[in-house]
Amino acid sequence: MFFGGFPGGGDPFEEMLGGGRGGPPADTTALYEILGVERDASDSEIKKAYRKLAMKHHPDKGGDPDTFKKMTEAHTILSDSEKRSRYDRGGIEAVDSGGGGGNPFGFGGGGRSSGRKKGENVTRPLPVTLEDLYNGKTKKLKITRQTIDKESGVKKCAQCNGRGVVIRQVRMGPMIQQMQSQCPSCEDGYTYSQKREQEVLEVNIQKGAVDGHKVVFHNKADEIPDGDAGNVVFVLKEKPHDLYKRHGADLYIEKKISLVEALCGFTMELPKLDGRTLIIKTKPGEVTNICTFDPFAKDGDTEQEWEVIEDADCDLEDMAKADTDDVDMLKQAVAKGQLKGKGIGCFVMRNSKASFKQGSRAECLKAKKAKKGSTMYVLQDESIAASTRMMKCVEGEGLPLMRDPYQFGNLFLMLTIEMPTEALSEEATEKLKTCLPPPLNTVSADEADENVDTVFVSEMDPVASHKEGLFTGKDSYDEDEENEGAAGQRVQCAQQ
Ligand SMILES: [Zn+2]
Repeated sequence: MFFGGFPGGGDPFEEMLGGGRGGPPADTTALYEILGVERDASDSEIKKAYRKLAMKHHPDKGGDPDTFKKMTEAHTILSDSEKRSRYDRGGIEAVDSGGGGGNPFGFGGGGRSSGRKKGENVTRPLPVTLEDLYNGKTKKLKITRQTIDKESGVKKCAQCNGRGVVIRQVRMGPMIQQMQSQCPSCEDGYTYSQKREQEVLEVNIQKGAVDGHKVVFHNKADEIPDGDAGNVVFVLKEKPHDLYKRHGADLYIEKKISLVEALCGFTMELPKLDGRTLIIKTKPGEVTNICTFDPFAKDGDTEQEWEVIEDADCDLEDMAKADTDDVDMLKQAVAKGQLKGKGIGCFVMRNSKASFKQGSRAECLKAKKAKKGSTMYVLQDESIAASTRMMKCVEGEGLPLMRDPYQFGNLFLMLTIEMPTEALSEEATEKLKTCLPPPLNTVSADEADENVDTVFVSEMDPVASHKEGLFTGKDSYDEDEENEGAAGQRVQCAQQ
């Protein structure tokens, strides 16, 4: 129980904090009236109302610019669920004060101003398919909520005078203590009767909505006697798709192609998320290279490329320092560690100390100066990095953008080439040689020469090979060394 700030006022803190703007309760209806919608209007109702009015009142169509400005302001606030909640609680002042305060819940603004009380919000996850997000969808969901019986009305509790708590005097030895406890005959200072009501909410899943997007139904949670009901908030949870993976507005699909398709081009067929069929072709004679870029790799695993410049320093101011010569670790710190997103353009190593500089590649290179013994590591140009990430893509076949459903992301093909599993016939090999570019490797040495060894390649797992090498190394070391006791122990450890 929060001591102070009882509903109904009379609390000294409230008045002090409220300052000059105590007085009448904040206006929390004007914006709704401007748009001509109810206080519990849905997001789409608000959008519709605004569009209708905007068509009528746009200054280009002879409308009054002042009216238009007011409408647009009302729409801006009411279409942003956070701003709308703040407005509902404390009027326009709460929206304004929330901006600078950095408190996303508008607690300061809302609590201080004599705004309306707001009930608790209810949040529910709503699973959606990628198809739903591509096409847009309206889902009807039934909710059951506690409403207040308006016919029997809401009365201030007589026992606690609307405070919701009663003070009892309790004697403890020689002292009399005042104890506060919840009023036994009311809830939060009011008496009223509740009923359970069912309501169907139409959840509008916008085209291109992102995972975690919130659809807010204002004032649709349980009603409270002395303020607005809380909001019902549905949080979209994107279900994984069998074929497509989503990356923002882009879609990715994994496909295998044969070596022939890689060399001579391919034609493939994919089911689109709207039920249509997509036929994808390469241009005649187009050769497909395989790109290993994977946007779903863990953040930062997408390698950043660094250019190494010996005997160079950078005049830019130090942004961070590190006492190490572990260059890989330093690169990681920029890619995904504590320096990620800090705009680091280069770092300079000198005597096992690194200093990081903020700036673009061009800025870092411009501030470069010669310095013996220093090494400068400059982040590679983004365009060079981009050139190594080029992937086959179908433009405009991704998801619609939420801000503009007439624009689409792209569809990327994550291709792997399936090589022939069996050896080709000699005849086929000869034929291929006539039409493919010549080999890159040639031999000038004489196989018959006694200083020349000729071998055939085999297949082997490099990881297994590496382990094998470690054991072999240790064994021979043990045999050669005199210090057998320690070596014996080491082998024992390895076997445990
Ligand atoms: Zn009471």
